[in-house]
Amino acid sequence: MRASFEKTDGAVSLTFDVQPTANPTPATAREAKLADPGFGRVFTDHMAVVRYNHVNGWHGARVEARASFPLDPATAVLHYAQEIFEGLKAYKRDDGGVNLFRPDANARRFRNSAERMAMAPLPEPVFIEAIEQLLHIDRDWIPGGEGSLYLRPFMIANEVFLGVKPSAEYIFAVIASPVGSYFKGGPAPVSIWVSENYTRAAVGGTGAVKCGGNYAASLRAQAEAIDRGCDQVVFLDAIERRYIEELGGMNIFFVFDDGSLSTPPLGTILPGITRDSIITLAKESGTQVREEPYTIDQWRSDAASGRLKEAFACGTAAVVSPIGKVCSAHGDFTINGGAAGPVAMGFRKKLVDIQYGRAADPHDWTRKVL
Ligand SMILES: *Cc1c(COP(=O)(O)O)cnc(C)c1O
Repeated sequence: MRASFEKTDGAVSLTFDVQPTANPTPATAREAKLADPGFGRVFTDHMAVVRYNHVNGWHGARVEARASFPLDPATAVLHYAQEIFEGLKAYKRDDGGVNLFRPDANARRFRNSAERMAMAPLPEPVFIEAIEQLLHIDRDWIPGGEGSLYLRPFMIANEVFLGVKPSAEYIFAVIASPVGSYFKGGPAPVSIWVSENYTRAAVGGTGAVKCGGNYAASLRAQAEAIDRGCDQVVFLDAIERRYIEELGGMNIFFVFDDGSLSTPPLGTILPGITRDSIITLAKESGTQVREEPYTIDQWRSDAASGRLKEAFACGTAAVVSPIGKVCSAHGDFTINGGAAGPVAMGFRKKLVDIQYGRAADPHDWTRKVL
């Protein structure tokens, strides 16, 4: 069944009604929160909200005080998990201005996610406008230095109905959370646990879209990783249980002794914007990149023979995380002596320098919003 959302096609832009909060956080309290925000627990004063129903299409675009949503206990999202999200950051430049990094790619992926989940696709310009409006009103919440403002656009099925069908009503919203440098004093290599009991995604499933359900299904495997003393879980493919797919929330790259890179092909994995950016940067510097299946057994033997030099995970939150150790029910092995390698650290620096506007941006990836 294909959900039809005729009303979405026309509305490519909406005017946001901006209603500043009556109770802004005092500057001293805000500065105290920004001093050590951690990740995902501190929020700005406002949120952007746009609503959808079949009668009006996308409508009611507002920027308003951040507040709870009243949800009827029969709201569809609470029962059937029709929910999608995105994650991107706003970076403060040295000149005091603010950059977004490839927000058009997040907008496109959000639309793809909506289509897969039979939700009303949000026009890409509305996605970007909502983020920019929120950044304007909450600009004082964007940390300087190596910090950033993490932006979380999301959409929930808001129809009050227990029948199993695509919801006829949706809420799209953007909230923002200041975050410190993900790693204080440079990224420490992570250890990862190879999940053999649980898989993340199957062909034809939802592995390639950013829906909350994927995360719900990954938490047991992540808990198993923590039980085994590891930082993160890495999933294998659901059919042969041999091919590396990705971590719970990050894509993965392998670096070989001939200088080439490989990364698992798209299909059941999430098409990361960081992944795509690293492939582009690598290719333009003359590095060969293969998007090809790679097995856990090959990984183990390449690490032992020295053919594999480095492995790293990547995503918006952490940018690049070197992988120092791999643990599984069949034994552990280390990579690059457990230390961060030069290739991972090089991509990390290249990306961060572009994001903060410190390096040339030949692909027009950054968007100056302030
Ligand atoms: C968001 C996400 C990533 C990383 O995507 P980026 O666009 O690079 O932030 C990787 N894997 C999963 C499962 C994700 O949800």
